[in-house]
This record gives sequence, C-alpha cells and structure tokens, in this order.
Amino acid sequence: MLPKPQKKFALTFDLDENPLNSIICEDLVESDTVALLSEKWSATEFFLENFFKISDRINNLLGSEVPLTLFIRADKHVLNEYGSRDYFFEKYLPKLLEYQSLGHEIGLHLHLSKSDWVNDLKIENELSELKKFANQEGLNLHGIRFGGHNLAEKFVPILEELGFVYDSSMMPGRKRKDRHFNFDWTRTNKNIHKINASDFNRKHHHTYDLLEIPFTMFKIKAPYDSMPLDRYFDLNFANEYLINSINNDKSYTLAIAHPHSTIVLQKHEQNSLMSSGWDNFEKNLEFIKFKFSEFRFDTLSNFAKEF
Ligand SMILES: [Zn+2]
Repeated sequence: MLPKPQKKFALTFDLDENPLNSIICEDLVESDTVALLSEKWSATEFFLENFFKISDRINNLLGSEVPLTLFIRADKHVLNEYGSRDYFFEKYLPKLLEYQSLGHEIGLHLHLSKSDWVNDLKIENELSELKKFANQEGLNLHGIRFGGHNLAEKFVPILEELGFVYDSSMMPGRKRKDRHFNFDWTRTNKNIHKINASDFNRKHHHTYDLLEIPFTMFKIKAPYDSMPLDRYFDLNFANEYLINSINNDKSYTLAIAHPHSTIVLQKHEQNSLMSSGWDNFEKNLEFIKFKFSEFRFDTLSNFAKEF
C-alpha cells in the first residue's frame, strides 16, 4: 500500500441560516421541485436533503473521494425558528448517521451571544443533553466550531468534560472586540495544537487537552483593503481574489464554505470579496485540484487523531 500523503486538506461546511428570498442554484434543483426559499434555514435543509448530489459533484471536480466535515447548528437561533435547539440533529439524525458511516464528519456549530457567555451553566446543560443524545445514537460529535470565533476560555474545560476532542474556531493573527465579536487570536499557534493560555492572550501557562485546529490563513486583499489582510480560506470568496493569494506551503490546509453561499445565489455589493453560487464554488474547487494536487482530503477529527 502506498503511504498516505503527509500534506492534508479539510473541506468544512458551516450550516448557517441563509438570507431570506435567495435562490437555490438552478442546476441543483430537480426541474419538478420548487425550492422553498422564503425560509431562513432553507439552504441548510436543502444541503442536508441533497447532500449526496453535492458531495458527488465535489468528488467529481476534485477527482477524489472527499470526506467533508459538516458543522451543524444547535443554538437559540435554531430554537427560535423550530422550537428545539437540536432540531437539525433530531430531524436529520438518520441522514447524519449515514453520512458519518461513509466517512464524513458531523460536528457542532454554535453561535452564542455575549449574554450566553454569562450563562455558561445553561450552555453546559444543553450541550450535555445534546452530547448524550448523540452518544446514544452513535453520532460521534468530536468537534465544535463557534460562530464569530467566540470561543471563551471558560468553555474549554466544559468541552473537555463533555468529551469533545477539538475546537476549530480560531483565526491566528486576527482579533476583534466589539458588540458582536470578542476574540484575540494574535498569539495563536498556526498549527494544530493543544489549547493554551496564549490562545487567549494570557500569560499563565496552563495547557488543556482540547485541541485547536485553527483556520488556515492567507493574506488576501479585498477590493476595499489598502493592504492584504490575514483571512481564512473561504471557498465562497470570489475566485479572482483566491487564485492570487492562496499557496500550498503548509502541512495542512483548512477551507471553509457555507451552504448559504455555495448553493444559493445572493446579491453582493459590486467588487465584493464574496461571490455566492455554485459556479464560483466550482471554479475554486478546480483551483484546489490544480494547486493542492499532492494533498489528501480528510476530516478534522482524523487530523486530530494524527496529532
Ligand atoms: Zn456560523
């Protein structure tokens, strides 16, 4: 058997809500079905319902079986819309188990507000219930990604206690503190590492067991930037901005995409860094195939196993 290539690539999707009244890309929709796009979560539901179609297309474009890592939302935004935080896990459990059995990974995606942070006991109980449910059903929730990169240090021991193996939220080199965001990853190690004090810009020396699989950052110059900025590798960025900015000099590369940008057409400002829709996504995959030909595709929990 040939040895596995050392360099690896993970393609991850965050299944977030889509803008209202957007349109699912025409060639993904069967001619006799009408996509319901007035609802906020239609891209997520469409993605989960049509996962094989989307995964097959990705495999064909990349010329390889690509195990995908899907971060599924379970938070109060889902609760407000569906009456249960765990709606997607409950409704799509058989599908999620099927995707997992084929080598894809299901992770958890939480968008917390700052007020949620104060209420960490409540979050702990809710996460504990979801984790128990997943364990009982055989769904391996090893990884978590926080929306807005809002991983507070106080959640790290909670996540460890609940049996999470890794977090994948940090963007090394970036910081932002305002009404919506609160993170400072300026001292964060760019490689896979055990989470430690410097991830939170602190001086004490504690190292946790929870791993961090940070986003791969590249200097990308958006049309409105005077200087290129460290940005994560987003497959929904316009192809012309990616191809000039992305290199393959790292041991692993983590790319992100969103169903709401990949399979849905959204209106963007002119000269936007973002370009939604399948055509742009497809161009970016073709670029990956060409640029990352010596990489193998894997899930983030397999990255963690190899750490
Ligand atoms: Zn998100």
